[in-house]
Amino acid sequence: MKKVLKVGFDLDGVILYNPIRVFRPFAKKFLKPLKAGVLGQEKESFYFPRSNFEKFLWRLIHLTSFKINRGYDDLKKLSKNKGIRLYLVTGRYGFLEDDYEKWLKKINANKVFEKCYINKKNTQPNEFKEEIIKKLKLDIYVEDNWDIIEKLNHHTGAEILWITNLVDRVIPYKNKFNDLKEVSLFLKKFSSRHV
Ligand SMILES: [Mg+2]
Repeated sequence: MKKVLKVGFDLDGVILYNPIRVFRPFAKKFLKPLKAGVLGQEKESFYFPRSNFEKFLWRLIHLTSFKINRGYDDLKKLSKNKGIRLYLVTGRYGFLEDDYEKWLKKINANKVFEKCYINKKNTQPNEFKEEIIKKLKLDIYVEDNWDIIEKLNHHTGAEILWITNLVDRVIPYKNKFNDLKEVSLFLKKFSSRHV
């Protein structure tokens, strides 16, 4: 019998197009010393907004994930295929849940994804994703953030696909894609071969 292929997707930068995504590598350089110094957070951890003002800014940043990515229609078609099961796993923190719910409706998530997960307990996004990937025994996870890719490759057995950006594109990686459309086409081919 054919095994069902289980694939997880990140939300921001993968299902949704985020135009400021390309600034992330710069923001990282800037935020790292700031995090350690002013904000008193661990250098290697992902930033978590603590004060109301920081949360407000964080919300604004996520409001820029304003449109559905090219290729989502292909994914919808793919979800009808019985040999594949799609899951949405976002590292978004709990206080962004209202915006997340709005997006789930807009993208008709209940028709496309088997189940959707948000990081309600505000753990580190990579740890949350790792936990769900293991729990669901995902074969593949699609991510746009290079730092998270490295961590997931280290801690899970899933095949991690990377949707890259203009700045990070030079980093060599085996599963590198330009957009969701390319990923969808890859998954379509892959699932037809997958036994
Ligand atoms: Mg992302």
